[in-house]
Amino acid sequence: MQQQPFLRPEVQDFSPYTPGLSIDEIHEKYGLSRVIKLASNENPLGVSSLVQKALQDHAAGVFRYPRSGSPELRAALAAHLDVPEEWIVAGNGSDEIIDLLIRVAARPGRDHILIFEPSFSMYRLLAKLSGVEIRTVPLGEDYHFPWDNLLRAVTEETALVFVTTPDNPTGYAPPVQELEILARRLPSRTLLVVDEAYMDFASPMDHYSLLSRLRDFPNVVVLRTFSKLYGLAGLRLGYGVMPPWLADALIRVKPPFSVNILAEIAGLAALRDVHFVQASLDCVQVGRAWLTTELTSLGCRVFPSQANFLLFRLGHAAMSTLDVFQKLLEQGVIIRPLKSYGMEEYLRVTVGTEEENRIFVRELEAVLHG
Ligand code: PMP
Repeated sequence: MQQQPFLRPEVQDFSPYTPGLSIDEIHEKYGLSRVIKLASNENPLGVSSLVQKALQDHAAGVFRYPRSGSPELRAALAAHLDVPEEWIVAGNGSDEIIDLLIRVAARPGRDHILIFEPSFSMYRLLAKLSGVEIRTVPLGEDYHFPWDNLLRAVTEETALVFVTTPDNPTGYAPPVQELEILARRLPSRTLLVVDEAYMDFASPMDHYSLLSRLRDFPNVVVLRTFSKLYGLAGLRLGYGVMPPWLADALIRVKPPFSVNILAEIAGLAALRDVHFVQASLDCVQVGRAWLTTELTSLGCRVFPSQANFLLFRLGHAAMSTLDVFQKLLEQGVIIRPLKSYGMEEYLRVTVGTEEENRIFVRELEAVLHG
């Protein structure tokens, strides 16, 4: 690309986030009547009717600015999670909390951030935009977390360590005791950020989540999102739970209205709709088990997952992984190739509704054996 003197060097060669393809794009491109999207780990049941009603009821209020800091949502989350309000920061998706943490805690040109490789690409992208170095530690066999290698890479300049559990794109979740040990072994000025975007789907959650134990760890942040279990990906709502001095710093520097008025209303309603949440969980947990069995019987290697998606590898297919992905697209089934994660041989599929799962398996079988 031609150098542009007005742009910072980090921006000149910045490769943007690669999102899952959209249903509209595929409709238009292939002229299909039915397209299903199992590519972005969204909620298979859509959005709760209680949330939709709350959004309609509050539509007339959008000419007002929201209250800065989303106090009502903060209070509701504090009650829901049994943590003090002062520990919670709501953001425009958990993406915004990741960005704020980097900008608040890491000194460009001096500190670095440590992540496993492969991992969710936003850590790397947002660090780059902030001019903060990213260092990586390869994941171990079967994509488990090699803690000793990670700890060996930590120095006094490690400002943040990001760990995703359940991991994206593998679905792997380590026992929570492993994270507790990691948190205790990090130097005192290194923050451990545990990204629990998919933790709602883990079972039993207590076996994997650090959130209920945060009181014991002054150097740990837990990230959660309304994009998955609560079905609000398009409204952009996530949050971090962290020590109050850190929450205070994030809130002081954060754009005041980044959580919009309807996102806050939707979040409050989503927390109340326990029936929708339970139905979503049931759908994902049943679908995940069913897809695992079906993909395995098609000869695929499926990785155990605590999330709402499955990582898999084809058996001895005559076709390349990318060809299989492309053929599925042409049949109106969007899943996720993992080239952007450097995992060309793998595919990731989001657990859909029972019908979507059946269509995906039928089309995959036709591609592989037909
Ligand atoms: N962390 C991980 C691991 C994710 O996969 C995602 C969503 N793809 C996010 C964070 C961001 O979620 P949000 O929609 O809340 O910004």
